[in-house]
Amino acid sequence: MNIKKNDILKLEIVDLTSDGNGVGKLNGIPIFVPNIAVGDKLLARILKVKSNHAYGKIEELLSSSPHRIEVDCKNYLQCGGCAFRHITYQAELSAKEQRVKDAIRRIGGFSDLKISPILGAKDADKYRNKAQIPIGKNEREEYILGFYAKHSHRIIDSARCNLHPDIFATIINIFKKWASISKPSVYNEKTHTGLLRHLYLRIAKGTGEIMVCIVVNGENIPQGSLLVDMLKSSVSDIKSIVVNTNTDKTNVIMGKKSTILYGQDYITDILCNLKFNISPNSFYQVNHDQAEVLYNLVKQYANLKGNETLLDLYCGTGTIGLTMANDCKKVIGVEIIEDAIKDAKNNAELNKISNTEFICADAKEAVLKFSSKNEFPDVVILDPPRKGCDLDTINSVVDMGPKRIVYVSCDPATLARDLKIFSQKGYFPKELTPVDMFPRTTHVECVALMSQVKG
Ligand code: SAH
Repeated sequence: MNIKKNDILKLEIVDLTSDGNGVGKLNGIPIFVPNIAVGDKLLARILKVKSNHAYGKIEELLSSSPHRIEVDCKNYLQCGGCAFRHITYQAELSAKEQRVKDAIRRIGGFSDLKISPILGAKDADKYRNKAQIPIGKNEREEYILGFYAKHSHRIIDSARCNLHPDIFATIINIFKKWASISKPSVYNEKTHTGLLRHLYLRIAKGTGEIMVCIVVNGENIPQGSLLVDMLKSSVSDIKSIVVNTNTDKTNVIMGKKSTILYGQDYITDILCNLKFNISPNSFYQVNHDQAEVLYNLVKQYANLKGNETLLDLYCGTGTIGLTMANDCKKVIGVEIIEDAIKDAKNNAELNKISNTEFICADAKEAVLKFSSKNEFPDVVILDPPRKGCDLDTINSVVDMGPKRIVYVSCDPATLARDLKIFSQKGYFPKELTPVDMFPRTTHVECVALMSQVKG
């Protein structure tokens, strides 16, 4: 390849990769450039050359694509959170839809599958109901709270993030003020000393309730009652202030134990007309409004008539199954994390739903057990992590012979791979809809409906 580091090359961006990089080509060789729009023409400085591709950055933008918009966040280039703030939301949605179509066709081999238009969000900003904000000090010994710079653990001080509701910035600033008065130490990852690790915030969109959780390398914080007074006097919707103890030398943010400083140790949200109690450690969908869109789509694809047994595999805290419990005879939820199963059971009780059973087990083993006990669900929902389903799970699901399978996926590539495997075993994808759960980031969710084709 004739390209060298520091070369300045003229490029036109013709495509976007799944991680949001623009692709320009020189004699057929792809050159990846971040923060660029399809249609942009630029001079790119080459940063790294590999055997069949290269990486560059914008040296000079020669002409702008019509999709390009002014970036409204001063931290955009340093932060790894957003990938699409420089293009219109419509262009972002088209790119995500195209990525799904490409994966389904190239990896899955389904050229005729109907892929519905992506369901975009009403609000592409301020949608996150959860924030985990690292705490540190700068060289002037001032408290800093914000986000880690890309590929590092260097904290960039910033109270505001466009994906957070405004109230989070208010809370961060109050917390900073409290810290400058109470002067707690801050955690140092290298020496595993110091107290304050993260400020962890949650808001229940359906009720407005707010949780403030201070994650510390210790048991308590100094002048906790001052922090409570300062927060309560400015933020009336705070229902829960807790100290979470994490004394482990780990990148995992939360520890297991939480102590109440004020109010309760949970907040209550309303999602799809159901109540959910959310504790500091509960898994809960990050985008409330798009979670409702996603779950309604799952419900539509499941097409329950009232008499079915529904198996919700990888159920988390049971939210998908619970939103459909009124439409079927029984819901069985399976999830590997014990605390999530506890939450799922509590959530069922909270909503007076009595036709559910939640089992803490590995999906593969649970499904094997059902088959061996001749328990055959009519409809199966799969919502696995990014890596998708393993082959044994797919085989066991197929062996149970459900009428329909609804697959919720956060990775189009593993979805396409799994749909192909299912189709080889008699379950064909009928419909697929991408859903944008995380506007401005590279993530895209999909829901696919499969049904059995009797041969
Ligand atoms: N359906 C839920 C959560 C899906 S996230 C919701 O909509 O909120 C995927 C879930 O799969 C996680 O809760 C994770 O703990 C669980 N999981 C991962 N591997 C698993 C396995 N082998 N067996 C069962 N559950 C698993």
